[in-house]
Amino acid sequence: MNIRILGTGMAGFGAAYRLRQEGVKSDLYMYDKNAYIGGHTATFETNDGFIFDDGPHISFTDDKRIQDLLADNIDHEYETLKATVNNYWKGYWIKHPAQCNLHGLPSDLIVDVISDFVEAKHKTNGHIVNYKEWLYAKFGKTFAETFPMVYGKKYHTVDAENMDIDWLGPRLYQPDLQEVLKGALEPSTPDVHYVDKFRYPTNHGFAHYLDKFTSLAQIKLNHKVTGIDAKERLIHFNNGTTTDYDELISSIPLPELVTNIINDVPENIVEAGKKLACTSCIIVNIGIDRNDFTEAVWSYFYDTDIIFTRLSFPHLMSPNTVPDGCGSIQAEIYFSDKYRPVDRNPEECIKPVIQDLKKCGLLTEDDNILHTSTLFIKYANVIFDLDRQEALKIVHDYLDDIGIRYCGRYGDWGYLWTDEAFKSGENAAQQVLDNKLSTREI
Ligand SMILES: Cc1cc2nc3c(=O)[nH]c(=O)nc-3n(C[C@H](O)[C@H](O)[C@H](O)COP(=O)(O)OP(=O)(O)OC[C@H]3O[C@@H](n4cnc5c(N)ncnc54)[C@H](O)[C@@H]3O)c2cc1C
Repeated sequence: MNIRILGTGMAGFGAAYRLRQEGVKSDLYMYDKNAYIGGHTATFETNDGFIFDDGPHISFTDDKRIQDLLADNIDHEYETLKATVNNYWKGYWIKHPAQCNLHGLPSDLIVDVISDFVEAKHKTNGHIVNYKEWLYAKFGKTFAETFPMVYGKKYHTVDAENMDIDWLGPRLYQPDLQEVLKGALEPSTPDVHYVDKFRYPTNHGFAHYLDKFTSLAQIKLNHKVTGIDAKERLIHFNNGTTTDYDELISSIPLPELVTNIINDVPENIVEAGKKLACTSCIIVNIGIDRNDFTEAVWSYFYDTDIIFTRLSFPHLMSPNTVPDGCGSIQAEIYFSDKYRPVDRNPEECIKPVIQDLKKCGLLTEDDNILHTSTLFIKYANVIFDLDRQEALKIVHDYLDDIGIRYCGRYGDWGYLWTDEAFKSGENAAQQVLDNKLSTREI
């Protein structure tokens, strides 16, 4: 029984883990196009002593089983940190979430935010059909238009009226009037962010969590899947090799799978695949010779004239990600093929990022920048635009029909965090087990 897993990210390892846990004895093979494991949870160590993840990663799962599993993987050597988060808007640093921390902002703005908030609370809303309507209903017009709609456009690359609301979960805190009023009057407020505490490996960056998973399967790196013949059950790779399969679990992004990889996909499925939108992200990594420029572990940026959407500070996740006394920054800049195509090389972002770090006061002219580098993430965050639900059902139904199991952030095509991607891989493996164990094929 050949079970093949495509991708060695959290989802791929979730699948391998579940199969091994259930005693699957056959040789398990995992394939990845990259020369390293981990997908988005990979970590890169630079020659000058800085450690950067493939986009900043922290573990904030509240699932005890996953917490324990990851902790065991790194022999319990992890940092536990408080999620200190802030926002930057037109020269003001605002505690997160901004709607409960208006104190110190221009009084005209505060008055408008609060009066719109009260008005919104007294309005009866019909059926809310998009993110813009949701924001108006929950926060009122002024706050919606000043903060989340501007940030959302920077981050998701699409206007709020073209976005669904099925991705929200706990992501946007919904305060009551008392919280808004208190936050406007008082400089200090309770912490209400949905991430309270998080963990990060003490050594070697986030990817360290995955090291022990490599014993779960035989891993074939530098194996980019270029073709899948679902009738003959064959997988073709860019290095000219081919393998067969009885069961296939894929964490490859769905648009790639149905537009470029699977043979003879019907035109309507290809069209649906093309409608699935995702952001791409340029990451600019900066290393500096001091570490006292922020207390926030990450910060959100609302101004459209600031190039980055979010900053993270790896030296605050573990001091071992930087040389002694140094600090580090990861800046995220978002694009998408569908709404804001990438129009520059990642390296071209370094200078504007440094300029904007100075503009908002995080860096000074005197700072000694020890390291700069960039990363490009082709598939970053799934865009929950109004095309997504229908197109996704078409693509998933097709994969179900041809017997390819999908998992992970880009297989489920959702807003999955690392723990959810792992569990999604476990679920895909469970489908294989449910299908095959009873027939004793494994
Ligand atoms: C900027 C950013 C920050 C994030 N921060 C956090 C965070 O702080 N905490 C958190 O929990 N989550 C975070 N996430 C989400 C997290 O990265 C994902 O949930 C998780 O890593 C997804 O794992 P996956 O296995 O589904 O996908 P991936 O990690 O993308 O794995 C898919 C794998 O498939 C491989 N692959 C793709 N195409 C092919 C092909 N043709 N042939 C062979 N292999 C192929 C890829 O190389 C990759 O290894 C963040 C995401 C981003 C983009």
